[in-house]
Amino acid sequence: MTVLILGGTTEATALAQQLDALDIPFTLSLAGTTRGARQHAHPTRVGGFGGVDGLAAYLANGITLLVDATHPFAAQMSRHAVEAASHTKTPLLRLERPQWQGAGWENVVDLDAAAAALPANARAFLSIGSRSLGPFLTRSDVWFLIRSIEPPDALPPRSTLILHRPPFSLSDELALLKTHDITHLVSKNAGGTATRAKIDAATRLHLPVIMVKRPQLPVAPIVETVQGVLKWMEQKGHL
Ligand code: NAP
Repeated sequence: MTVLILGGTTEATALAQQLDALDIPFTLSLAGTTRGARQHAHPTRVGGFGGVDGLAAYLANGITLLVDATHPFAAQMSRHAVEAASHTKTPLLRLERPQWQGAGWENVVDLDAAAAALPANARAFLSIGSRSLGPFLTRSDVWFLIRSIEPPDALPPRSTLILHRPPFSLSDELALLKTHDITHLVSKNAGGTATRAKIDAATRLHLPVIMVKRPQLPVAPIVETVQGVLKWMEQKGHL
């Protein structure tokens, strides 16, 4: 009996800590995209599975429950999880933190739409992940402040990069937005507390917020908290 946690989020790490404390066998799976990732004290595997077939083969090798605790924008991994779980009849649960709610945001369907929504001569703050900058690279009429954990492969022509890891405080975010004369914030609707302060800071400064909606995922049972996962595991006879 082993639980496979698809990780890469604070919630996945919190779940791993809980299972550790309860002495429940599990493996935490990481994509391996964040080079400076913190060392995990848990049984961890790193790197892709090799698509749906690779994940299905991994599941067939002794995994009894699958918990998809990846980031809400890690859509490919979540789709693979649904397919592989279905092929192998492995019970699957998605641990997905609630979306941020707010009034007055411009909600857009994807990053392309977010890039198109920025007016010429804007000074935009992007903290959307080092591998999500593609749609912004051609906006030479906009200046960008880009913050990421890993250095991006390419930057927009007019930009400044800062490398930092969340969480971020409201006072720090306010200072950052003011120091760089930011006029627009672009954000993924990631949810959670670790990166929420930039939204609150932009709201406080009355800056326009361009919010990228979450990608559509195939239907799967969902809980919003680690406690919800433990309850599900109890129902499945794993606790
Ligand atoms: P993605 O586009 O959904 O996944 C791309 C491929 O990376 C997957 O097909 C899979 O490769 C591999 N992969 C992703 N997550 C994995 C995991 N937990 N364990 C093993 N392989 C994994 O995902 P992404 O957007 O590149 O995100 C990669 C990781 O970063 C995820 O774990 C996610 O939780 C974390 N993250 C993502 C974001 C974001 O905005 N997308 C933000 C913060 C953290 P194979 O097909 O070879 O199995």
